[in-house]
Amino acid sequence: MKLSSLGEFGLIHRIQKQSPRRTPGVVIGIGDDAAALRVSANALLLATTDMLIEGVHFDLSVMDFHSLGWKSAAVNLSDIAAMGGLPRFCLTSLGIPPRVPVEHITEFYRGFNALLRAHKTGLAGGDTCSSRDHLIISVTVLGEVTKKRMISRAGARAGDRIFVTGSLGDSAAGLELLQLRNAPRTRQAPCGMRNIKSEIRNPKSAIARLVERHLRPVPRVEWGRNISLSGCASAMIDISDGLSSDLSHICEQSNVGALIYSNKIPVSPILLRAMDHLRKHPLRYALSGGEDYELLFTVPPAHVKRLQLLNIVATEIGEITRTRGLYIVDDKGREKTLKPTGYNHFARSGL
Ligand code: ADP
Ligand code: MG
Repeated sequence: MKLSSLGEFGLIHRIQKQSPRRTPGVVIGIGDDAAALRVSANALLLATTDMLIEGVHFDLSVMDFHSLGWKSAAVNLSDIAAMGGLPRFCLTSLGIPPRVPVEHITEFYRGFNALLRAHKTGLAGGDTCSSRDHLIISVTVLGEVTKKRMISRAGARAGDRIFVTGSLGDSAAGLELLQLRNAPRTRQAPCGMRNIKSEIRNPKSAIARLVERHLRPVPRVEWGRNISLSGCASAMIDISDGLSSDLSHICEQSNVGALIYSNKIPVSPILLRAMDHLRKHPLRYALSGGEDYELLFTVPPAHVKRLQLLNIVATEIGEITRTRGLYIVDDKGREKTLKPTGYNHFARSGL
């Protein structure tokens, strides 16, 4: 059987079915942002690991090593944030091809440590190997949360309101701008493309800020913590694959459906300002573009008021439904099926 017929999530499901169903101490195993492991009566150890592979997750022609280090830390810290946890320790493993000079690895760890330090998370070990062609990065972050405060993907109930932190789509737009900057002159580009190079160099421009959102995403660790300590969220996930896909993960794990409103999805002023330079409508980046690392969470109606008192930026975008399936109401009030269009490894790479 070809991997493309199963897709990334189908394969993970198969691995899950092949593994022992219940392991003592594993409170949450495969299927959430991080595993939750019982270490004492009330304390849970959170464990998450993510790989970044050159040519699949990053392209060294658009990404510098400092940003790569920062981002490698961010994707894992974000998974701990999505459980309402506090990151504590991390391990890094690298597979390095011979063409990468030592200075670049030093730069990688500068970026990596800068973000880890900001979250008081200590590097505790890892592994270093040579790789034939591609740079391979694997990061594991361990965190903690009490049993009472942990938020899984599985707690959403019909009637719960759906919220998202910050704004969506900036990272995917930033990546497209970086790719357009590097595109050969002959490639057809939207208007104003020739300005992209100079705009990227001007840190105050909307374009440079979108690029920054792609290169150096900010994991919402404090916000995730605030949400968890308030006790008002019933389910949570971080947006790594794209809103439509990550919402489908919450719905699958919670056995519910969802209805969201396109005109409520938060799109940043910088994305709107850069629209003329981009190929797609801002909403497309927000729905399908991944790597925003914002938090998507559900709140029972009785707790919505309490959420508003928290010191976080969050927008209500829809509600959880009893009927399975994802639906979106467009700007003309029409209800349509929402397909999970975010990143799925084997579907895209066609392996
Ligand atoms: P995220 O995007 O939040 O990092 P993933 O989609 O990568 O989450 O993973 C979803 C779930 O599947 C997680 O619980 C992860 O630990 C698990 N998982 C992914 N790949 C494997 C694998 N090869 N073996 C066991 N579990 C896996
Ligand atoms: Mg995640």
